[in-house]
Amino acid sequence: MYSRRNFLQKLTGSAVAASFIPGVLSAAALSATAVSSAGCTGVDGPVLRVAILGLGSYGTRVADAMQACTKAKLVGVISGTPAKIPVWQAKYNIPAKNCYNYDNFDQIKNNPDIDAVYVITPNATHKDFVIRAAKAGKQVICEKPMALTAAESREMIDACKAAGVHLLVGYRMHFEPKTLEVIRMRNAGELGKIRFFQGLSGFNSGDPNQWRRNPKLSGGGSLMDIGIYSVNGARYMIGEEPSWVTAQETKTDPARFVPGIDETIQFQLGFPSGAVASCLSTYNMDNLDRFFLDGTAGYAELLPATGYGPTKGRTNKGELTQPDTVHQTVQMDEMSGILLQGHKPVVPVDGEEAYRDAVVVDAIYQAAKTGQKVQLKG
Ligand code: NAD
Repeated sequence: MYSRRNFLQKLTGSAVAASFIPGVLSAAALSATAVSSAGCTGVDGPVLRVAILGLGSYGTRVADAMQACTKAKLVGVISGTPAKIPVWQAKYNIPAKNCYNYDNFDQIKNNPDIDAVYVITPNATHKDFVIRAAKAGKQVICEKPMALTAAESREMIDACKAAGVHLLVGYRMHFEPKTLEVIRMRNAGELGKIRFFQGLSGFNSGDPNQWRRNPKLSGGGSLMDIGIYSVNGARYMIGEEPSWVTAQETKTDPARFVPGIDETIQFQLGFPSGAVASCLSTYNMDNLDRFFLDGTAGYAELLPATGYGPTKGRTNKGELTQPDTVHQTVQMDEMSGILLQGHKPVVPVDGEEAYRDAVVVDAIYQAAKTGQKVQLKG
């Protein structure tokens, strides 16, 4: 795999070479800085030194994307599978002193060369790993869905607060330029009064033996995995918190989707302004990924809306032309800015944001089960 760091390592006098390439960290700049728990300094300012916990498929995607970061650097790994560690060490140039397993990872508290732990494991394991990382005094980044329930989310937020560390969630779309342009247009009133959002999120779930199809590890089916994008999207596209929820579940293939794994859920959200959202989450349709936002003065469509990219979209004014990005590279650089420099993102990516999603997810499951409309605070 090509990475800027690999490229630099192939050059003689890499520190000198690096200083001529904008946005590329100089190895000398990184190693010469004093170690502290507040990042080290690169050519673009403070650099967040990250250990990834959970070296699976998304962990690998994040690690690869981080090779192009200028404000974040993968420096450590935490894995339950010993054989993966040397492979990652070689691929990403990770020193042995920054490698941990699930039994000894609490000792990370004594490691001043790691600022943050990024938890990228099955959903049901997030809570314990996040709380352990927080107790070790590290900043915590956790994948979506942050927790299985709102109550669990609150526990995680409280644990991070008690430990004096931040808790961020891997909401990569919150930094995506076309998404942010739609939010800018809405905030500027260019779409008029927002009336309607439609979110379609789904794919055909394959391997029945994966953890996503085991309710004990996933905490649910399509809604926890992919429908959460429509839950979150409805909130950031409309720009309000829902005040009521209705939902209906359809299961056409109970042999494939065991109890506790939702196949298809349609849900509707009502917002205090009168705007409504109509969404579909599924594990049994091919590549459904569309957001549509309608206001009294215009509309915006993102299609695809939340896939790894390129994100595409248009509004009543024409095609959205903001640049395509590698979402995880931008996310990690922006999160570095949040954690080390106090930057405020346009759309929050903290534990409270995930708590609000979890409240809606809890309400969707409750509404689907009871057939009743669930009222929320709004
Ligand atoms: P994966 O199965 O590819 O990897 C999971 C990793 O966790 C593996 O390395 C596995 O060994 C490890 N693990 C730790 N405890 C485990 C346990 N008890 N059972 C099984 N595996 C265990 O899964 P993934 O696709 O990398 O997903 C991991 C997390 O990332 C999930 O929460 C998922 O929702 C999230 N995710 C987010 C995005 C995104 O775009 N933000 C995309 C994919 C996945």
